[in-house]
Amino acid sequence: MDNEIKIMPDFEGPEDFSTLSLNENVLRAVTEKGYKKPSPVQAIAIPHILEGRDIIGASQTGTGKTAAFALPILSLLKRHGALRCLVLEPTRELAQQVEGAFNAYGKQQDLRTTLLHGGVGYGQQCDKLRDGTDIVVATPGRLLDHLGRGTLTLDKVSFLVLDEADRMLDMGFMPDIRRIIARCTNKQRQSMLFSATLVQEIENVASWVLRNPFRITVGGGTSTAETVTHALYPVDERQKFDLLVSILSKIDYRSVIIFCRTKNGADIIARWLENTNHKTAILHSDRSQKERDQAMEGFKSGKVEILVATDIVSRGIDIMEVSHVINYDIPQHCEDYVHRIGRTGRMNNEGDAVTLFTASDQDFLKKIEKFIDQKIERKKIEDFDYKWTPILEEEKPQPKRRNRGYSSALSMNMGRRRR
Ligand code: ADP
Ligand code: MG
Repeated sequence: MDNEIKIMPDFEGPEDFSTLSLNENVLRAVTEKGYKKPSPVQAIAIPHILEGRDIIGASQTGTGKTAAFALPILSLLKRHGALRCLVLEPTRELAQQVEGAFNAYGKQQDLRTTLLHGGVGYGQQCDKLRDGTDIVVATPGRLLDHLGRGTLTLDKVSFLVLDEADRMLDMGFMPDIRRIIARCTNKQRQSMLFSATLVQEIENVASWVLRNPFRITVGGGTSTAETVTHALYPVDERQKFDLLVSILSKIDYRSVIIFCRTKNGADIIARWLENTNHKTAILHSDRSQKERDQAMEGFKSGKVEILVATDIVSRGIDIMEVSHVINYDIPQHCEDYVHRIGRTGRMNNEGDAVTLFTASDQDFLKKIEKFIDQKIERKKIEDFDYKWTPILEEEKPQPKRRNRGYSSALSMNMGRRRR
């Protein structure tokens, strides 16, 4: 049995969904969503999931990984029964989004989806669980709370999805994930790992989750979406904010996400932007759930054009209108670069990614460029009043190595003679 396929993002799959053996209800929902052609990852993953295979799916940001797992799972679940599908997500916002996708794709079927994440009360969540649910989309912390309270059991789970799998299996989440999966005792379980950044090693890390997985790699496995342009703006640390304002005044943005390294940093930048007459929304984990929901809602609806956020927004969030991503602070983990800039340029839309770069960011930049196997173009704002800084120096071509033998000795002598 084949265990792997590697395809390019321009892979030509079937022209429509009808040849993929999905059930009629799912097909109708897909048509209603307006999807015509399956994306490459969908074209490959859907038939393999329908055949019962475990999956490791690596495909760039915004290429439809959610439907790649949700459509076949909904097709196989058919009708209401027990809790059989568990989808784990790293953030509340992403869990909300993926629950929404399950609801939309499962609209024509008698299936129930429950969203479980922290920051909100237990009442509604418990009610929904008590009434019976087929699918749970959850963040790990709240799911463990429910397991502790005995409000749900996972022994019938036959589909397990780790979305943003490399994040879910990193050191921060791993202990929680182990405890959760230990409760998924059904031997017939089919497991699926999806992300835009899945290096080969993930297979070793995840070997206890998967059973003879089929590996799908679209476009390299760590590559960025092809429709996003990248630019790097070197600047002195003290001029970062002024340059940001200058960039904002030059670009024609619809919706822009500005990423900061810290929550405090995000608050400060948002406040300064407000002072320069830019309306902003803020999203990070110290905000209340209500504030987070309001920020998301305002940004999604277009009421607010600038979202200032930490990496909490870097994974998975799907807002088609995002035209620009600005890294006010360069990401410290190279995979975060891929995910952050992947908030734009979704589903073959175009997008621009801008990174501010200061002298102390050199090491991070090197790692990012190695990871994405691409040199990011250095740019300058022409009429910006740059203060001098070493990294603003144009890169000069390396001088040819001088011959260190006879001729260089001669030139030294000549120099002396001239004096
Ligand atoms: P990923 O998880 O790969 O980052 P998503 O699943 O969030 O991508 O999908 C990105 C966007 O593409 C979503 O807005 C989704 O509705 C849309 N989409 C998914 N599949 C298709 C398709 N076959 N045709 C058109 N749009 C699609
Ligand atoms: Mg996704």
